[in-house]
Amino acid sequence: MSYSQAHITRRKFDVVIVGAGGSGMRAALELARAGLNVAALSKVFPTRSHTVAAQGGVGAALGNMGEDNWHYHFYDTVKGSDWLGDQDAIEFMCRQAPQVVYELEHFGMPFDRNPDGSIYQRPFGGHTANYGEKPVQRACAAADRTGHAMLHTLYQQNLKARTNFFVEWMALDLIRDADGDVVGVTALEMESGELHILQAKTVLLATGGAGRIFAASTNAFINTGDGLGMAARAGVPLQDMEFWQFHPTGVAGAGVLLTEGCRGEGAILVNSKGERFMERYAPTYKDLAPRDFVSRAMDQEIKEGRGCGPNKDYVLLKLDHLGAETIHKRLPSVYEIGVNFANVDITREPIPVVPTIHYQMGGVPTNIHGQVVTHDGTANQVVNGLYAVGECSCVSVHGANRLGTNSLLDLLVFGKAAGRHIVEFNQRQREHKPLPANAAERTLERLNQLDQSSGGIYSQTLAGDIRAAMQQHAGVFRTQAGMDEGVRKIAALRAQAGAVTLQDKSRVFNTARVEALEVDNLIEVAQATMVSAAARKECRGAHTVHDYEHPDDHPTAPLGRNDAQWLKHSLWHSAGNRLSYKPVNLKPLTVDSIPPKVRTF
Ligand SMILES: Cc1cc2nc3c(=O)[nH]c(=O)nc-3n(C[C@H](O)[C@H](O)[C@H](O)COP(=O)(O)OP(=O)(O)OC[C@H]3O[C@@H](n4cnc5c(N)ncnc54)[C@H](O)[C@@H]3O)c2cc1C
Repeated sequence: MSYSQAHITRRKFDVVIVGAGGSGMRAALELARAGLNVAALSKVFPTRSHTVAAQGGVGAALGNMGEDNWHYHFYDTVKGSDWLGDQDAIEFMCRQAPQVVYELEHFGMPFDRNPDGSIYQRPFGGHTANYGEKPVQRACAAADRTGHAMLHTLYQQNLKARTNFFVEWMALDLIRDADGDVVGVTALEMESGELHILQAKTVLLATGGAGRIFAASTNAFINTGDGLGMAARAGVPLQDMEFWQFHPTGVAGAGVLLTEGCRGEGAILVNSKGERFMERYAPTYKDLAPRDFVSRAMDQEIKEGRGCGPNKDYVLLKLDHLGAETIHKRLPSVYEIGVNFANVDITREPIPVVPTIHYQMGGVPTNIHGQVVTHDGTANQVVNGLYAVGECSCVSVHGANRLGTNSLLDLLVFGKAAGRHIVEFNQRQREHKPLPANAAERTLERLNQLDQSSGGIYSQTLAGDIRAAMQQHAGVFRTQAGMDEGVRKIAALRAQAGAVTLQDKSRVFNTARVEALEVDNLIEVAQATMVSAAARKECRGAHTVHDYEHPDDHPTAPLGRNDAQWLKHSLWHSAGNRLSYKPVNLKPLTVDSIPPKVRTF
């Protein structure tokens, strides 16, 4: 039996949140506490969202372990972003940070403690005191399970506030009416295979990152960029998608993350000669330079033949000098990961690591209230009824390179801000806008294509081909020819995406159908990334292209950035597979702007 309009059930909420990770649940809490009727959808049980895997900490200038204030945090974040971050949003986030962390503490978050009872904070890459003078301890941590503690805390608070969770429900498409306003979503109930329409005054996307467009990733398997795909198909551009962060320390071969908190606690990277090579690349920050720097340095060591192991294709992270007691107290999960994924006891020997895809700096463009915006060439235009927060959004606080701990912070600050803004909107807007007659048309086409399919490519083959292409053409170091080739490959794969074959067409908990629907999102994100990357003819943050490195370039001061032409945000439009650009906001809300300069560490 094919899917049809007649079999779709309909429900109505004030707000539908797609995603119940840290950002979705922080927003949900704000809304449910204000008495709104909130539905939070998740492909997995909420506490299994990827936020649960966050290890190292959440950044806030509390100053518990030495002098700190939000101005330093603001400066570090602007510099970390390689000046692509919008300074109004960065000021907003860094100023709010202490407040949202204390709120989380009061919700019951089990932070580690100092002897005086205050929250324990550890150093993290790129976080400094006094404008780059010395490392500062700013990452508020619950051992190396900060995301786990945060997600469970938020889930418990949401239960108390009576948020309605729809567990194992997959949102498929946004519904826009004739005015272009978003009035709901279509969603698949995975257990029954039934299609539903959830009508809402506001839809909030909180679907997390899309790290699974790459073959080797620290991300959960569910991180397929569904919110980005939904936005792209509904005509919303995706911003700054060329910027993908490689985390320096993924376990070689396994991809599982070892938190930067390891280096925060004093671990160091060494090459095959036993050298602490980061001293050469970043004389001041050393192993705690930002992630784009450290990843490039590791790649360089491996290329120059100083990698370790039989194939000289990884470097080592050395922790044994921290002592077993510190490791078991501060890094208990890292210890377990070492044993389970590398057969290494990190209290005794170093562990093999390689830069691994970790985080997308780009996403669905928003303003500081979480409202999704497009840009008409002169100014932002709000898309009524649509918000986005968390890793799927781009506000943009991370610019071309995110600092560790700033993502968990982004979830809290903008989850709360979006929640507040939606509550205000609800006080004015009492009625739902009517659903258009063709509300589920696009979704029905997608589902029925799969149900009628035969003889095309299998979704797992197509997903594998996308991942291989991205891995090869959008790595730590890029070349123009390599990216151009990647653009051609992804375009060819896209042509096959419309003809995916579903062999098992059964309804009940058909994970093959779910995976096939996810591929529609992978291809949008992959194409956005490749096309935006190939067009950006400079080096900035995580986007390093050999062709645009400066002749006088030095690892400690890369000069390939071209502010005259490229100090601007990319916007990729799915319709027409085209790009437009909008200016970076260099004006903070209240303080002085930090003008672009060479980024040294
Ligand atoms: C291993 C690891 C460690 C990290 N450590 C840190 C750290 O220490 N500090 C830091 O600041 N950042 C860290 N990060 C980054 C940070 O954890 C993430 O960016 C952040 O948690 C993302 O939160 P989110 O709310 O945006 O999305 P997620 O937590 O990924 O949640 C996404 C939600 O969306 C749902 N969803 C997705 N698609 C659909 C759909 N179609 N329908 C319904 N639901 C859907 C999912 O089920 C899930 O509930 C880490 C990331 C990783 C991978």
